[in-house]
Amino acid sequence: MSLRPETNAIRIQVERTPEMEHAVPLFLTSSFCFEQAEDMRAAFADETDDNIYSRFSNPNVREFVDKICSLEGAEAGYATASGMSAVFSSFMALLRQGDHMLACNAVFGSTHTVIAKYLSRFGIDYTYVSATATEEEWKAAIRPSTKMIYVESPTNPGLEILDISMLSRISKENNIILNVDNCFATPACQQPIALGADLVVHSATKWIDGQGRVLGGVVVGKKELIHEIYLFCRSTGPALSPFNAWVLSKSLETLFVRMEKHAANALYIAQRLETHPAIAQLRYPFLPSHPQYAIAQQQMKNGGGIVCFELKGGLEAGKKFLNGLKLLSLTANLGDTRSIASHPASTTHAKLSEAERNAVNITPGLIRISVGLEHSDDVLEDILQALNAS
Ligand SMILES: *Cc1c(COP(=O)(O)O)cnc(C)c1O
Repeated sequence: MSLRPETNAIRIQVERTPEMEHAVPLFLTSSFCFEQAEDMRAAFADETDDNIYSRFSNPNVREFVDKICSLEGAEAGYATASGMSAVFSSFMALLRQGDHMLACNAVFGSTHTVIAKYLSRFGIDYTYVSATATEEEWKAAIRPSTKMIYVESPTNPGLEILDISMLSRISKENNIILNVDNCFATPACQQPIALGADLVVHSATKWIDGQGRVLGGVVVGKKELIHEIYLFCRSTGPALSPFNAWVLSKSLETLFVRMEKHAANALYIAQRLETHPAIAQLRYPFLPSHPQYAIAQQQMKNGGGIVCFELKGGLEAGKKFLNGLKLLSLTANLGDTRSIASHPASTTHAKLSEAERNAVNITPGLIRISVGLEHSDDVLEDILQALNAS
């Protein structure tokens, strides 16, 4: 039976055990048993896909991966302990000395550290391209050694939208792997593989968990690429814990309804705040004022749950605003049921130089709001009273 993604997010489940449980049990086991020595030999020789050891595979982890593959329209996947281990493994398994990576300069702070500080230690070079670069500018940055294009869309925290179909076209023309971090949109809102991406990475810690409880990551995509990533991870050990996989798989059951509500709340708040006198500029992908509104409309089902704005008063106003909040949490996470306010310039992106921050629109007064599932008027009223006090 061919089922829709909303149903698969709920109904893909580890096969029922003889106990006939309804909800899936937690397989907290490091390893798995074999009846016969021959079965064990065959499993180690990759002649069967029997579970061997939870660094390689585990039923709870497989259920989570199978769901993400179904939602993203991917052939295969591997789940990792965090989003960063998914990002790092997707680089290390597929790039080697002498290779070149082309990346958007607006990437998650730790991803920037991996690209700029660590890849170069292994002789992997990179070029950053602006989030607003044209097709010609992307093409001009390609070298014969370019093996991977890596982007986020929407970007964190500036909410730039990259044209994934355009990037897929130039990747295919030049035999380059297109790797997209789909953390901000989630597959409930955007499916990069349908737009031509080869790989999709996620921090499952954010919207996929949705309640700020566990870390997790996943990379899905073309079978032969995922096989390389699997072999790398199986030996180097960034496996997702079965407990976290169980939590994340349960969370996927509500992903579609949550993301619809997060996006509706975020749009409401963005519309109400857009003309506020304390705000210099506000950004939300589904507001017509967004510079890449047309692309967002093409490739996203909704604008997602993040709103960002620049306070006229800069750094000082930013601090006052955060201190004035009574309901919203000041915390490093995003994608929670609880609304969160953060100040990227002093936190997640503090390791970038000021020039690097300016290049990706992380100005001193930039505030990022992860809109939760509280009543949208309660969230709005808290933001308004903090703005008026700042
Ligand atoms: C948080 C985040 C990551 C890293 O994920 P962790 O689970 O924290 O390791 C990667 N990309 C984006 C866009 C993120 O927001």
